[in-house]
Amino acid sequence: MANMNPKKNPMPSQAPEVRAHNFKEVAYGYSEEMALDEAMRCLNCKNHPCVAGCPVNIHIPAFIEKIREGDFEGAYKIITKTSTLPAVCGRVCPQESQCESKCVRGLKGEPVGIGRLERFVADWHNAHSDEIPETAEPNGHKVAVVGSGPSGLTCAGDLAKKGYSVTVFEALHKAGGVLVYGIPEFRLPKTIVQKEIDTLKAMGVDIETNMIIGKTLTVDELFHMGYEAVFIGSGAGLPMFMGIPGESCKGVYSANEFLTRSNLMKAYKDDSATPIMKGGKVAVVGGGNVAMDAARTALRLGAEKVYIVYRRSLEELPARKEEVEHAMEEGIEFRLLCNPLEIHGYKNPEDPRDPKNGFVTGMRCIKMELGEPDERGRRRPVPVEGSEFDIDVDCVIISIGTSPNPLIKSTTAGLETNKRGGIIVTENGETTKANVFAGGDAVTGAATVISAMGAGKIAAKAIDESFNK
Ligand code: FAD
Ligand code: SF4
Ligand code: SF4
Repeated sequence: MANMNPKKNPMPSQAPEVRAHNFKEVAYGYSEEMALDEAMRCLNCKNHPCVAGCPVNIHIPAFIEKIREGDFEGAYKIITKTSTLPAVCGRVCPQESQCESKCVRGLKGEPVGIGRLERFVADWHNAHSDEIPETAEPNGHKVAVVGSGPSGLTCAGDLAKKGYSVTVFEALHKAGGVLVYGIPEFRLPKTIVQKEIDTLKAMGVDIETNMIIGKTLTVDELFHMGYEAVFIGSGAGLPMFMGIPGESCKGVYSANEFLTRSNLMKAYKDDSATPIMKGGKVAVVGGGNVAMDAARTALRLGAEKVYIVYRRSLEELPARKEEVEHAMEEGIEFRLLCNPLEIHGYKNPEDPRDPKNGFVTGMRCIKMELGEPDERGRRRPVPVEGSEFDIDVDCVIISIGTSPNPLIKSTTAGLETNKRGGIIVTENGETTKANVFAGGDAVTGAATVISAMGAGKIAAKAIDESFNK
């Protein structure tokens, strides 16, 4: 008998007043009982509309059926037929706009908690198994992967399974891409990402860190070294700024820099030597997931007040609803319909060597109202004349978007990009340069983990086919 409760089993989580002061994971995950109860909510629909909502088409009713049978490893095997990072996706996928948005249970209540069940299965597997996926006999072909984010890791894993000798070249000192340097520990514990990377290494994938392709080596040099195909999964890590006065003041960060300092460089640890602004009043400009992560990180680093400054209203806020709710519960203040005009810096006219000179002292903003819809159908924010006001802040974190870094394009003859800097590819991930493939944010601009993973899979298949023509 199906469980017809219209509500999902709630996710057990740390209390907001506790978690606002620590970096431990917010959500604890389902127990076996909760997972079984939630799995009973699935109607095992014949046409399973949820599957089409998943960018890698995980067979959702089949894995949920296995949970109902108590066969959690069987459920894991079904998920990993198409997805390589279930413990990650079960945590960070925007399920509400993907698989769960298509679930029929959502018509008269809440959809089945597909992401929560996926996380449960992956965590169960990680706690009970050290099994390494099988790999084919070496086939003698060498492939280079640029970037170790979800697209690169997935492409590398799929190729290694088919017997390719794969080397991943990563610019940073640690592999994982945004999963390690961007998404904070309290949403995605780094041990989970490390486990995925260790598995890849155990499958024979070589990971070379501190290797900036375009600087340390070029794509053409990789071919000269014997690599026969190259996959570029270098992400979209170049931050955009607003171009307003005061952006060069001390205490202004891009969200990527702020999060990298905290996550990758461990600035949140008391004994860390990484400088970062701790305490004071912080304004985060922007309304996406990255802005929520930066705001919640600033709070955990000890800020006395954190504002989200966003130029549209709550309705248009692009971040996941769950992240917005978590941020609000933790005490982050949303200054909506509000746009920055200028950042003020301290200036001591008497003493140009005053060490306080140049530090942020506040931000001038203007109120906005929503006008006519733009080309994407979102109502355009329009400044309200004469409504300027100041916010008293010591730190401003800018989170208004990122784009692909032009370094690889500028050092690789024949590699074409579009006007937003995204590498131009065919539907198989082939670029305009022979034997060079690309996928993930480097192609689409900032998107999602699962779409980057999907692109890595498509490219791995195309690379394999190119050797078997
Ligand atoms: P990335 O993850 O960006 O990895 C690219 C890697 O390439 C990096 O490690 C980089 O150092 C390396 N690299 C770059 N240039 C070079 C070079 N020249 N040579 C060698 N290596 C290079 N998505 C979700 O689905 N859910 C979320 O909740 C979510 N939250 C996010 C929070 C933050 C703070 C950020 C920044 C992004 C978030 N995203 C989220 C988006 C998601 O993380 C990205 O879409 C995804 O990681 C893209 O994967 P990728 O493999 O294309 O690139
Ligand atoms: Fe849903 Fe993401 Fe899992 Fe696909 S990978 S089923 S979209 S949670
Ligand atoms: Fe189960 Fe919902 Fe998918 Fe139907 S649409 S199979 S109820 S998860």
